[in-house]
Amino acid sequence: MKTDVMGVGFHNVTMDEAIDHAEQLIAKRAGAYCVTPNAEIVWEAMHDEAFRDIVNGASLVLPDGAGVVLGAKILGRPLKGKVAGIDFADRLAAHLATTGGSLYLLGSKPGIAETAAENLQKKHPGLKIVGTADGYFKDEAPVVEKIQMANPDVLFVCLGAPKQEKFMAKYAPRLSVGLMIGLGGSLDGFAGAVKRAPKWMIRCNLEWFYRLLKEPRRLGRMIRLPKFVLACKKQHRREMREAKGNG
Ligand code: UDP
Repeated sequence: MKTDVMGVGFHNVTMDEAIDHAEQLIAKRAGAYCVTPNAEIVWEAMHDEAFRDIVNGASLVLPDGAGVVLGAKILGRPLKGKVAGIDFADRLAAHLATTGGSLYLLGSKPGIAETAAENLQKKHPGLKIVGTADGYFKDEAPVVEKIQMANPDVLFVCLGAPKQEKFMAKYAPRLSVGLMIGLGGSLDGFAGAVKRAPKWMIRCNLEWFYRLLKEPRRLGRMIRLPKFVLACKKQHRREMREAKGNG
């Protein structure tokens, strides 16, 4: 069962449960994709029906940010917790290293995916990375063909939203990849090109603030967070009124 947060259905799972779920999808090899929306992406989905359908069409929908967890709490249907995309990807890489499964990295500026691959292999010895490609291609066809030839179990798709979600929805049914995962700027993180917030800030749900300090251009996008919180409050009041009316 999914938990509705402003029209996006989230899987209410812990990190371990998310990994279990992913393992099952990989084993099936049925063209599945996973999305990791934060509050900004939910806001986007609230205002774009076609994008919302793509997000809800994913086999696994993970709450990437503290904002989504807060929204669910305000709505009175709390989630078990945040499952950050980059942490999920790292755990999955560790899993693939033990099972011998293969991984392909797509996205970010030229050179980043290669550095991310080296770092991931250093961290998870034995991890089989069967290809990398940057995310600034003009023509999708050769990129898709390279992925098909490599035939990975898992594909990290790091093109930013909504490009990565649209790419996955289009190609998941056509490619024989076990699981595609949309992970935003995670390859920059794995490559060390963008540093993550200190642990205490992550623990205090302040990772968004750290990113804002490092990349002030994000302000335009982050302004959606308070709007999202207000929309959740309004929606909760509406649902309470409706429940009273029916009761
Ligand atoms: N990106 C890409 N192709 C594009 C546009 C963006 O590969 O056409 C990459 C960009 O280099 C960055 C990632 O997509 O690595 C988006 O990162 P951002 O931090 O904006 O995404 P978020 O994690 O916030 O969704």
